Amino acid sequence: MTGDADQGEQRYHERFAAERAEGRFVVPQCSECRTRFWHPRRHCPKCGSPRIDFVEPTWPAHVYTYTVNHRAKKDDQGPGATMIGYVELDDGLRLLTNLEHVDEEHAIGTAVSPEPHITDDGVVFVFVPVVS
Ligand SMILES: [Zn+2]
Repeated sequence: MTGDADQGEQRYHERFAAERAEGRFVVPQCSECRTRFWHPRRHCPKCGSPRIDFVEPTWPAHVYTYTVNHRAKKDDQGPGATMIGYVELDDGLRLLTNLEHVDEEHAIGTAVSPEPHITDDGVVFVFVPVVS
């Protein structure tokens, strides 16, 4: 049995998943106080409102910090190293994400935007440098 709160929670996650399935990287924004936040959650962390919209940020974001995980490469299975980091949006909101093709020596401040990758588990976004 599910109550109204559970159904609201389900609709929220379905809306978020539908945006991503369409290839749009969206972030939650409170309909009441306009605060954008990350990670997605059902209520605004600032005012507590359950009225949440999803908005597509203005790109690019910029690499705020990062780390590279090196691991032994087994045959041709996967990359030998992966980069993850925080990217910062124009309003200061930071997202933890996967980074690809970012120059490790000059990564901080690199302008990046999300690129959808279709996987067996759905759409996964990685952030790649913006080509100007
Ligand atoms: Zn709010």
